[in-house]
Amino acid sequence: MKIVRSVPATHEELRKFHSETYLDHITSIHEIDDEYIANSDDEAYGLGYDCPLVSNMFKLVTTIAGGSITAAKCLIYNIANVAINWCGGWHHAQRCNADGFCYVNDIVLAIETLRSKFRKVLYIDLDVHHGNGVQDAYNLSKSVFTLSFHKFEPGFYPGTGGIDDIGAVAGKGYSCNVPLHAWYSDESLEYVFEEVFMEVYANFLPEAIVVQCGADALACDPNGGAKLTPHSYSKCIKSILDKRKPTILLGGGGYKHTNAARLWATLTALTLGECLDENIPEHRHWEKYGPTYTLAVDTMLTKDNNKKEYLDECISIIKENLKKYVFLKPCTEPEPKKKKTEPLSATEQSCSTTVAVKTNENKIFKTLRGSSKTSAHNDEQHNTQKQNVLLTDVYDFID
Ligand SMILES: [Zn+2]
Repeated sequence: MKIVRSVPATHEELRKFHSETYLDHITSIHEIDDEYIANSDDEAYGLGYDCPLVSNMFKLVTTIAGGSITAAKCLIYNIANVAINWCGGWHHAQRCNADGFCYVNDIVLAIETLRSKFRKVLYIDLDVHHGNGVQDAYNLSKSVFTLSFHKFEPGFYPGTGGIDDIGAVAGKGYSCNVPLHAWYSDESLEYVFEEVFMEVYANFLPEAIVVQCGADALACDPNGGAKLTPHSYSKCIKSILDKRKPTILLGGGGYKHTNAARLWATLTALTLGECLDENIPEHRHWEKYGPTYTLAVDTMLTKDNNKKEYLDECISIIKENLKKYVFLKPCTEPEPKKKKTEPLSATEQSCSTTVAVKTNENKIFKTLRGSSKTSAHNDEQHNTQKQNVLLTDVYDFID
């Protein structure tokens, strides 16, 4: 794994999605003390209630966005096949306003960066809340397919993302929502994800994938209402990574911070093919991980309100929509495993070029699970079993 220091987003980069007036307003916010009360101008830009004003807001926004844009650039310039920014994933922010704790939509900015190279991008959202800001940005587009799995109940934020919410005009059919009832479990998510993701992938055939891994669908999240464990997230991410497309993994919600850390550590290890010790090693926040001090996140006894019949009905509607609106052809894409004699696509050439770098710099890149370390220089294994992983480092701002 290589850790890359992110570059703050420029004003010009932010303008690829956000309005000039919104950026002007947040640029004007410098020192905010505890006594500050949001005025009508702030509220017009979504700042106040669930997006409280903070000092140096523009620096916060450029730092968050810069992490995900840097991740996207690393895929474009073939520095890595998988880029991770756990500080990213602010999926509710809209073009002209902050919303739902999100001041900037780093996801849209990362996707826009990717689109300079990759014609079709698949966005997948695993947060317990609907990824409304990203879907709204691409509601009319058929170049970016948005797929969101989330809790959908009366009164639950943001209230969008029903099964019939499928995009509009040219983009009709290129948004897909899987609205789940409260307390969805690993079993429900794993079942519906596998069915829907495979079908969307086979029909849309993306060239790059962006995943928002919001941790608030984990059991016991104070703002959630699902009961997942890292097991189902891992299964979803494994299915995505198995496609071996340039992929960005982002964070998102997660309000029981120790569990969010457990999840994202687990997913980082999965991506690297590393096996972590269940016992969390001592570090400066170690005491917060009690009483178990392990990586495990237990589920809850609360009943999953999603019956198999309901999930099957959702799957059936989604398949119909894909058939009706998205060019349907059997997945003719060859399996990721390639023989050496076959010509490689541009993307695959770049992958093997990057892997070649690994051969010389073993300290930087790690092997995927299942690859033999003793035969790490075998060419075929380089082409088929390794990925380079990059972690965008934006944590110095938070510290
Ligand atoms: Zn959320």
